[in-house]
Parts: sequence; structure tokens; C-alpha cells
Amino acid sequence: MSTELRQLYQEVLIDHAKRPRNFREIAGARSVEGYNPLCGDRIRVYVDTDAGQVRGLGFTGSGCAISTASASMMTEALQGKTTAEAERLADAFQKLVTGPMDAVVDDSHLGKLAIFAGVREFPVRVKCATLAWHTLRSALHGDAAVVSTE
Ligand code: ZN
Repeated sequence: MSTELRQLYQEVLIDHAKRPRNFREIAGARSVEGYNPLCGDRIRVYVDTDAGQVRGLGFTGSGCAISTASASMMTEALQGKTTAEAERLADAFQKLVTGPMDAVVDDSHLGKLAIFAGVREFPVRVKCATLAWHTLRSALHGDAAVVSTE
């Protein structure tokens, strides 16, 4: 990873961890709790969909900087997207953070989320980065009310 990208990774991460966006409950929305016992991250993702489109997305809870920043950036990235687009981004994000160090990922549609490639250097933090996304998927599918990374 280049020095510039590493610096950007840290700056964006710290900004979102300190001032998480859409950090709120959404009344009447579907919600699922996500838990990452490895780190102790515990969040709740709220998703409001209408006619296959994400109308509202928020989260609450507490976790490390990476899990908080990832959830915060996810809520920004998926606002107004269709649920199919949200699924595709969740797949792309998963591939981005779990890929080998030298993997070339098509991150053209990931936007700012591409900085999370930095997580590859810290394999133990991958579950922190993907927690919000796993939880969102579950909420979209109407699966279990609680998701654990383990
Ligand atoms: Zn964590």
C-alpha cells in the first residue's frame, strides 16, 4: 500500500470513528444486532427499505475505530441504493478486505470504501471491518435478529 493511501486510510478512519455518520436508530425500520466477540464490537444496524430501495440506514452500538468507521461509511455509501446494489457492494467490500495483499480489486464502484484495503495488513481486524456489512445483509434478508462473526 502506498504511503499516501495509508495516510488517507488513517485520516478517513479516524474521522468516521470520531464522528460516525447516521449514528441513530430509525423508528419502524428492521434492525439486526451484530457482534464480533474477537474484538468486542457490538452494533445494531437499522435499515428501512421501500420498493427494493434503501430509504434509511443507521446504526448504534459501540466498537473499535475500524468497526465504527466501516459502519459509518457503509450507511453513507448505501443511502438511496437498491437492495441489489447494496448486496453487490457488500460482496465487493468483503473481497476487498479479505483479498491477498497484492490482489487487484475492481474498486471503481466502492468509492471511499476502497481505503479499507488497508485492513488486509491487519488480518485480525477483518472481522471488525466486515461486521456492519454482515449485519446489514442479515437485516436485508430478514434473517436472525443477532449475527455473530464467530
Ligand atoms: Zn473491532
